[in-house]
Amino acid sequence: MNIHNILTAPFIHEMCEATNQLWRYGWAERNGGNISYRIPAEEVRYYLSLDRTFPVSPLSFQISELAGEIFLVSGSGKYFKNVQHNPADCLALIRISAEGDSYELLWGLENGDVPTSELASHLKCHQVRLAQDPQHRVILHTHASAISAMTFVHPLEDRAFTRTLWQMITECLVVFPDGVAVLPWMVAGTNELGDASAAKMRDCRIVVWPHHGIMSAGQSMDDAFGLIETAEKSADIYLKICSTNQPILQKITDAQLWDLAAAFQVAPKAGVLEEEK
Ligand SMILES: [Zn+2]
Repeated sequence: MNIHNILTAPFIHEMCEATNQLWRYGWAERNGGNISYRIPAEEVRYYLSLDRTFPVSPLSFQISELAGEIFLVSGSGKYFKNVQHNPADCLALIRISAEGDSYELLWGLENGDVPTSELASHLKCHQVRLAQDPQHRVILHTHASAISAMTFVHPLEDRAFTRTLWQMITECLVVFPDGVAVLPWMVAGTNELGDASAAKMRDCRIVVWPHHGIMSAGQSMDDAFGLIETAEKSADIYLKICSTNQPILQKITDAQLWDLAAAFQVAPKAGVLEEEK
């Protein structure tokens, strides 16, 4: 089979587009944010021969459920604004070993760097989401501004946070009927943050890291990105309402949200809305 230039691969293009857009939104200052994108081996083979040996690096945890899986990930310390100009320096294509305790670098990080410092969170979340949904592909973490601001003035509790976001824009319940989860503040880049995020991702696809940012899971880059855009827009409206210092005169009621769920055939996460009378 002819090997094509990997810089023309749709998955590289999507990664460049997403990182650039996150930077333009102001959610990826400096080296903030990280993305991992699961790529089937048959797609990779179109651009790269996999029948040779590659440099191997250990993981600080074992994830045998992802053995053989290939991920395109952003590099540690890389600026999202630069990815589109030099993807071969900023991105890494890695393959998890058969034992799940190391990875091979198939392509990228040309100047000898390492994958994102949040690799533990990403891989643990991929494992959990794949168990729920075989079509799952993308984990995206970014420093979304309004969501982060909201974590200073809103209770950090899954139900309350979900309910507020659903109430801000009619679309939210339809886009993320499984709601959002909120962790306590935790040190970034740790296995503990990875474990806690993955535990939350068992039954929802958006996890808020207080005073830090947000992580989402999707079947595609657009899917994961769209979840964050929608939650962020909702948080922005919440903050705008708070800043008016005006009493709330009207809102979307739970009965109306139930009507919405019925119309769009989605099942709201159990226990968030008041039960219909
Ligand atoms: Zn971060």
